[in-house]
Amino acid sequence: MKKDRFETWLQNIYHTQDEEISCTECFDLVSSFVELELSGEDSTAKMPQIKQHLDQCPACREEYETLRDLRRFEDEGGALSLDDLQDLIH
Ligand SMILES: [Zn+2]
Repeated sequence: MKKDRFETWLQNIYHTQDEEISCTECFDLVSSFVELELSGEDSTAKMPQIKQHLDQCPACREEYETLRDLRRFEDEGGALSLDDLQDLIH
């Protein structure tokens, strides 16, 4: 990352800090976010803080993607084996 980009990035974090949620809050809410998304609702409009956090936080994004993949799989009527779970997590 270039230095000026890094500073912009830091400033963005600083300036939006008041509205930002923590990883713990994101973790608590991400399943609701996935439910909204899968039910066809506009999850980004309803939970903008989650979307914002997911865009900035690779760890939570991964959590979100894993959860979403799991829920999609369930919706398709699939039964998860331990091997499937391990594939999703790793
Ligand atoms: Zn996070």
